[in-house]
Parts: sequence; structure tokens; C-alpha cells
Amino acid sequence: MLQTTLNNGHSMPMLGLGVSGMYGADAVRAIRSALTIGYRLIDTAAMYDNEAAVGRAVRESGIGRAEIFVTTKVKDTYQGYDSTIRAFEESLNRINCGYIDLYLLHWPSRSHRREMWRAMETLHQQGRIRSIGVCNYPIPLLEEFQDYADIVPAVNQVEFSPYLYSEDLLRYCQGQGIQLQAYSPLTQGKRLDDPRLIATAIKYGKTPAQIMLRWILHHGVSAIPKSNNVRRLRENLDIFDFDLLPEDLARLDGFHEGLRIFDDPMNYI
Ligand code: NDP
Repeated sequence: MLQTTLNNGHSMPMLGLGVSGMYGADAVRAIRSALTIGYRLIDTAAMYDNEAAVGRAVRESGIGRAEIFVTTKVKDTYQGYDSTIRAFEESLNRINCGYIDLYLLHWPSRSHRREMWRAMETLHQQGRIRSIGVCNYPIPLLEEFQDYADIVPAVNQVEFSPYLYSEDLLRYCQGQGIQLQAYSPLTQGKRLDDPRLIATAIKYGKTPAQIMLRWILHHGVSAIPKSNNVRRLRENLDIFDFDLLPEDLARLDGFHEGLRIFDDPMNYI
């Protein structure tokens, strides 16, 4: 599995499994299948209501804990310093597999983001968490870190795909040593039927989903596609035996249309 080294020296797989919308025994089954197939990064959140299933799948997988990278996130309703610490304790208990690799602020808080980041730093400094980061932080909110942060976020997880090619944000994060990570990397299926994408897929003998994921990774962005279907789990992982030619990369760059499935984080400033 292709890895990236985060700004604190820890490694993170570039491709992982997003598990939003999976619950209970179905989630355990899907995550165990993913781990068997070769996934080593699982992206959950307190909000997804499946942290316990993630922990169970990891414990039952028979794979060493150190080989698996687990991400979870602070629920939006936990605003402030103390509540962020409490949210972490609760997630840690629910996941129950020793430690969390990456803890993220799920959405920028309009009024409490400084205290929340201080709580994240405290958890990190206490050695209770390996890496800390954010989600949905646009450039102006990342710039604010210069005023109040001791630790630069290791990761910024944002919506990102060929149809939402946030090039300025990518360049900014690269300049600051922040690893960008793509959520909804398959546009939740909304552009998989784009004839231009299908034509590219046919050219490479790959699927539209594989072309999208390869494009994302080529840009140095990590991706966490969600699937609970074994065939599609395999498909999404099978992207390391080809690369896109420069002219095809450039063509996909041109697919950008500002497509957003989720809120524009600029609305949170
Ligand atoms: P994705 O872009 O990953 O799309 C998932 C959808 O695509 C599912 O319906 C899935 O169906 C389908 N799919 C998966 N693989 C294929 C394939 N190869 N061909 C065709 N269809 C496919 O969207 P998500 O919004 O789920 O994003 C992924 C993850 O990102 C989430 O699970 C979550 O972990 C994270 N996320 C984080 C957010 C944040 O604010 N930080 C916000 C949103 C998501 P099926 O399962 O049936 O295969």
C-alpha cells in the first residue's frame, strides 16, 4: 500500500476506506472484508455511529494493530475545549483498540475552533493520539493557525475530485506540509457516468471509479472511497498497476466544475 509521511513523521496509507453510512454487523462485515483485501486505513467519525463496529472489525481481523491506521473525528455538537477532550475519550472507548492514529475536527466551528484545536494539541502532547488534523478547512481558516497553533494539522480532509479540483487549497496545504485527503472522492457516484470519464476508463482498461482515484493520488492527495460491496472494494484498491499519461491528467484537471455534495466550508468563516 502506497504510504505518505505526515508532517510529524508518522506514515499514513494514501488510500483507505470511508465508512459513513455503514452500521452494526453489516459495517463489521464490510470493514473486515476490506482489511482482508488489503485496506489499511479506516476513516470513521463519532457522527457516523459506527466507531464500535470499526474497533470490532480491527480487533477481529487478526491483523496487527500497528499495521492499521484508524481515523475518527469530533462530532460537530461537541464545541469547546472540555467537550473536545470528552469527545476523544468517548471515541477511544467506543473504538476500543488501543489508540487512534488520526483525530480530526469534523467541521470548523464558527466560534470555538481555537479552543478545540488547543484540546487537540493537549491530547497529542499527552501522547494520547498520534496525529491531529482538521476537515473542511479552507485557506483562510488554515492561515489562522499561524496565530494560535503550536502544531500544524497533519491532515486536512476535504471534498475533492476531478469535478472539484481545489488547486489553490492543494498548493497551500503542500506548502504548509499538510496532507490533503479527499472525501467523496467518487462524487458519491454522481459523475461516474460522465462520457469523458468513461472514454478515459476504456482507454486504460479501467473503470471510471479507478480513473478518478488514480487522478486524486497522482496529485498527492489521499483518498477514502466508501463501499460496502466486496467487488467495488477490490476495484477501488486495484489502482496501482497503471498511471495516467500527462495529457489525460490535464484533461481530467479540466473536468473541474465546482461540484459539491456537501456544504461549502467557506460558509463557516
Ligand atoms: P464516495 O465518493 O466514496 O462514494 C460512495 C458511493 O459510491 C457509495 O454509494 C458506493 O456504493 C459507491 N461506490 C463505491 N465504489 C464504487 C465503484 N467502484 N463504482 C461505482 N460506485 C461505487 O462518497 P462518500 O461521501 O461516502 O465519501 C467517502 C468517505 O469520506 C465517507 O465514507 C467518510 O468516511 C468520508 N467523508 C468525510 C466527510 C467530512 O466532512 N470529513 C464528509 C463526507 C464523507 P457501494 O457502497 O454500494 O459500493
